[in-house]
Amino acid sequence: MTRPIRTLLIANRGEIAVRVMRTARAMGLKTVAVYSEADAHALHVERADEAYPIGRAPARESYLRIDAILEAARKAGADAIHPGYGLLSENADFAEACAQAGIVFVGPPASAIRAMGSKSAAKSLMEKAGVPLVPGYHGEDQDPALLAREAARIGYPVLIKASAGGGGKGMKVVRTSDELADALASAQREAKNAFGDDRVLVEKYLTKPRHIEVQVFADAHGNCVYLHERDCSIQRRHQKVVEEAPAPGMSAERRARMGKAAVDAAKAVGYVGAGTVEFISEGDDFFFMEMNTRLQVEHPVTEAITGQDLVEWQLRVAKGEPLPLAQAEIPLRGHAFEVRLYAEDPERDFLPQVGRLDHLLLPTDSPGARVDSGVRAGDAVSIHYDPMIAKIITYGADRAEAAGRMAAALARTEVVGLPTNRTFLHAIVTHPAFASAELDTGFIERYRADLLPGPAPLGTRDLALASLFLLLDEARAASAAADAADPFSPWGLAPGWRLNRSAFVDLTFAAGTQRIAVRAHYVSGGFRLDLPESSVQAEGLMADDGTLEARLDGVRMRARVVRAGQRLTVFAAGSETSLDHIDPRLASIEATGTAGRLVAPMPGTITRVAVGAGERVKKGDALVVVEAMKMEHTVAAPRDGIVASVRFAIGDLVDEGAELLVLEDLP
Ligand code: ADP
Ligand code: ADP
Ligand code: MG
Repeated sequence: MTRPIRTLLIANRGEIAVRVMRTARAMGLKTVAVYSEADAHALHVERADEAYPIGRAPARESYLRIDAILEAARKAGADAIHPGYGLLSENADFAEACAQAGIVFVGPPASAIRAMGSKSAAKSLMEKAGVPLVPGYHGEDQDPALLAREAARIGYPVLIKASAGGGGKGMKVVRTSDELADALASAQREAKNAFGDDRVLVEKYLTKPRHIEVQVFADAHGNCVYLHERDCSIQRRHQKVVEEAPAPGMSAERRARMGKAAVDAAKAVGYVGAGTVEFISEGDDFFFMEMNTRLQVEHPVTEAITGQDLVEWQLRVAKGEPLPLAQAEIPLRGHAFEVRLYAEDPERDFLPQVGRLDHLLLPTDSPGARVDSGVRAGDAVSIHYDPMIAKIITYGADRAEAAGRMAAALARTEVVGLPTNRTFLHAIVTHPAFASAELDTGFIERYRADLLPGPAPLGTRDLALASLFLLLDEARAASAAADAADPFSPWGLAPGWRLNRSAFVDLTFAAGTQRIAVRAHYVSGGFRLDLPESSVQAEGLMADDGTLEARLDGVRMRARVVRAGQRLTVFAAGSETSLDHIDPRLASIEATGTAGRLVAPMPGTITRVAVGAGERVKKGDALVVVEAMKMEHTVAAPRDGIVASVRFAIGDLVDEGAELLVLEDLP
């Protein structure tokens, strides 16, 4: 018995919402998006056939509101809801509420979500089902003295985990018995804050393990299969950074053993739909860690090596159809990688970044590459959600080909406006130890010095390319201005642009604390650039998108320079370098342009408004506080004045550059 699904609501945002819609549309379904205030113009809203607002920016006021989502589903006439990952995807109450509203929840039964929701309870169940477990304690009794005895019995080092845990929260490694009490208290605090439940489990901490997980799929007719495994051992702070399929070194016999253990785990909880059984593995041993009762972020690598569309499988199972393939029919060919491109700053301990993506070029047409993304150039990465920009997936006939393609795809990825982990990811996938599949969860720490070499000094090539960009850009602007015969064009007044006035121009750059002067001489066909340490003959052509066909001392190269404000980012030969162009004219225009305007220094939430309209303020008075990424920024009065109007209230979201209030001069 199958039930039709005609209209699918996707209760999520970002890349996963876009990705689910792609398959749903291909299957002829109508797609319905939901969105928060911060996402009114988001890609997933644009891509949907219909989209409904469900509340304010914070997830708990929108994407986590079961009532608002069901109301949208009712209005749209949706007969099914896909929860994506994160958010409500592993919320049993949501699955139940869907069922009560007569809507198909594209996921497992609420009972299976509950059974796997607690890592402790899940381990008890798995023990009974004969699935191997890491030696540990996962009982109800949480007496600290008992936990200490258990830790001693297990043997140090041990790992404390929040039973209700996820995302690495509440997880503490304990090396010796004297560290236990503190680690326990801190794990409990974190668990209480994150999950409202401070129960923990203790297990043996494996020191050089691999994370290998098995993709399982079950239908409502009693069939359950595995779609092979993924290796997600390249992690940072117990969170996945690079994933691949299949796991290197996996024998057919071991694959079958792990696959069977995963299927047993799923069957033990009456599983239906897509799920992932995560194992930790050391040597030939593997142990159950947890089951994620949803589609996983890294599912595309499995799609690549099996040629299957897992969202299509999910929707078919949700309709009541049997699984499309039997175990023996599931292909396994080639090799695939996925990396998670994040807005974060590797130089500052991977601090998540918020702000605008001024320029974004994703490697969609790179050989063997697939890109899943929920943003486009101009979008903001907001404080409210995961700062993932895209997932890049590459496929190849074997591991080396897929890795080479990943290096190529990352080399042509360009992001300006926010720091990202792109260079870090590129360093991982091109590292010799990665090539020889030396995989375990300590990889990143072990090769930290290679992977995070710190900012490179500004090289001659990049300085020359930045200079060439400015010179060609100004020449183009000057000729456009001449064409338009606009006597007031500022470009017409640029010093040094008339060959008959002077034969050189001086450019000033700043990189870090360094100031760099470049003198550019006009010579036949191009420029001679006097750089601090050398002189370079530079010539080239520039396309409208900033792509340069450059020749530096006769060496031809392709590059792109992107300007955002005074910041120039030079992309050349897979590397990127940023420097500032100090333009005396622009500096003065900007100063007058923003004088008296009080603007948000970054996108964020207004947490304090200290003044009202009509109030007198003195220079330096705090006017408005904007919070982003848990950091507060106070906007203070630049001079004495009277507040003419206040544009925002507490709780409002503001974009970077939004005018917060208007200050008038004193009469
Ligand atoms: P995985 O093993 O698939 O990475 P995680 O448990 O780390 O699973 O979480 C899945 C993903 O869900 C995260 O990587 C994150 O992108 C997303 N996610 C989790 N919580 C949220 C949230 N509150 N808002 C948006 N995305 C979230
Ligand atoms: P989460 O819910 O955060 O995904 P998991 O239990 O899946 O928590 O563990 C996340 C990661 O922590 C694993 O991928 C692995 O790197 C590490 N980890 C978990 N258990 C152990 C263990 N017993 N020994 C060593 N590392 C572990
Ligand atoms: Mg996990």
